[in-house]
Amino acid sequence: MFEGDITYTDEVLYENKLSVVYEDLTAARVTLNRVREFVSKHPTVYMGTHTPLGYENLEAKRIVDLNNPPKTLPVGDITFKTKSGKYVCSICGYVYDPGVGDETQNIPAGTAFEDLPDTWKCPRCKQHKTKFNAA
Ligand SMILES: [Zn+2]
Repeated sequence: MFEGDITYTDEVLYENKLSVVYEDLTAARVTLNRVREFVSKHPTVYMGTHTPLGYENLEAKRIVDLNNPPKTLPVGDITFKTKSGKYVCSICGYVYDPGVGDETQNIPAGTAFEDLPDTWKCPRCKQHKTKFNAA
């Protein structure tokens, strides 16, 4: 299933949230409900926009299981309001946690976002660190 802005990121599909501003909120809710109903009844490989999870889902032929989100998804609300040292990718929603680092690019735990090298890219969507916002 190819999907557009009804699920701006895969996280909102699993979390059952409307993720962006819609002209018709009622229609958006109905649509999201239909998408979730469909994927819960039919084995579905989900190709959402704005997240490379779509590519990963296709490559792995990963079937959506609404009760078991992929482990790579950030836990909880992706729009943190507290100062945590975490940074969120504005493109795909990936959360950089300095307490964890990024083993895919040999960044040890304890590395502040500000100290990441300029060559560092979002491990999920490969965007530059300038695409990140403080969480
Ligand atoms: Zn990203």
